[in-house]
Amino acid sequence: MSKSDLNCSFCGRPKPETQLLIAGLDAHICDRCIVQAHGIVQEEDVSSETKEATIELKPPKEIKSFLDTYVIGQESSKKVLSVAVYNHYKRLLQNSFKEDNEVEIQKSNVIIVGPTGTGKTLLAQTIARLLNVPLAIVDATVLTEAGYVGEDVESILSRLLQAADYDVDRAQKGIVFIDEIDKIARKGDNPSITRDVSGEGVQQALLKLLEGTVVNVPPKGGRKHPDQKFTEVDTSNILFIAGGAFDGIEKHISKRLNLQAIGYKTVLAQRNVNKENMLQYITPRDIRSFGLIPEIIGRLPVLTYMNPLDKKTLREILTSPKNALVKQYEHLFKMDNIDLQFTAGALDFIVKKALEYKLGARGLRSLCEAILNDAMFELPQSDVKSLKVSKQYAEAKLSVIELPELKIVS
Ligand code: ADP
Repeated sequence: MSKSDLNCSFCGRPKPETQLLIAGLDAHICDRCIVQAHGIVQEEDVSSETKEATIELKPPKEIKSFLDTYVIGQESSKKVLSVAVYNHYKRLLQNSFKEDNEVEIQKSNVIIVGPTGTGKTLLAQTIARLLNVPLAIVDATVLTEAGYVGEDVESILSRLLQAADYDVDRAQKGIVFIDEIDKIARKGDNPSITRDVSGEGVQQALLKLLEGTVVNVPPKGGRKHPDQKFTEVDTSNILFIAGGAFDGIEKHISKRLNLQAIGYKTVLAQRNVNKENMLQYITPRDIRSFGLIPEIIGRLPVLTYMNPLDKKTLREILTSPKNALVKQYEHLFKMDNIDLQFTAGALDFIVKKALEYKLGARGLRSLCEAILNDAMFELPQSDVKSLKVSKQYAEAKLSVIELPELKIVS
């Protein structure tokens, strides 16, 4: 056989059409196939790297100290979550090397009860960041039973797939944060008059997902229809974190605590209960009285609560987390070579206003936006090289804004 009769054993291209044909023991490979093979090897490397990163097990204390850098206060929640996340990923590791007779570890899905803007979503985001897993944040209020106007429960997984860049393996180890879970509580004791399509029906639909099942997911979201291609997603290793404000649940808690009234003195009074922060006494029973069905509560076995944000915590949130608001604005101004500073008086004033608006930490962002908007508009094209935001400056900027205009920026 003459040299020009040789072909690439992969693409079949004859030698004269290649720039290079490398000989192996009894095969040849051309320059183009080498480049292609190199690409495949690199892709495989990257995906195995991410897989390893996903499964890296961090001990609870390490998880907690990472959370500390982003989330201020909420000690109890951070501790409970660190353990839940640790156990969840231990379970995941066990599933990978499972022996037949091993004890089966159940899922540690979490439910966080707490007022809006206290950091529930932030906790879920921070955990996803730490573990380098995809996160989907979904709102339970848009979910309805299949066949009704609204989104099917499977749409949750479409979001997770999107967050994982359609890498099913990664999605299957991701985190789903279901916000406003309290809004799908059963509305009353008698759901039979009109169908409760966004309440108990959704709770029923969620059950399987929370527990672990294989679901056919329309990858691009939207409604299921017969011609659509589906992606199979197994939810067994997805960590679900549900959050909700459960407005009015305090009544159920105090009712329960009060049950064993002894004469005029109630147990409540005896135990010296802190009535300002009743959520710390929450139990699954209270969530049930609120209207979540017992099966859902059973599938969200880790229950924790958020404290309302007081003055001191709000002040700290402004300045100390890794991506604190003040740091973010300083950075934004620095990009225009402007040195931005807030005086202590201005920061105290912002905190005071945020408490008045009762928007939790979310109010801080809206207030800072309102105070700095003029400066962010004017200064980039001016000669001003520094801006000191004092209490007077902040007060003056806010005084021209009507209260209702302060929108929630999350
Ligand atoms: P929730 O989910 O409880 O309604 P979020 O987590 O969305 O509240 O909080 C809104 C914003 O407020 C977050 O983006 C974060 O910047 C800030 N925030 C809230 N609570 C805290 C906290 N405990 N520590 C740091 N920042 C917080």
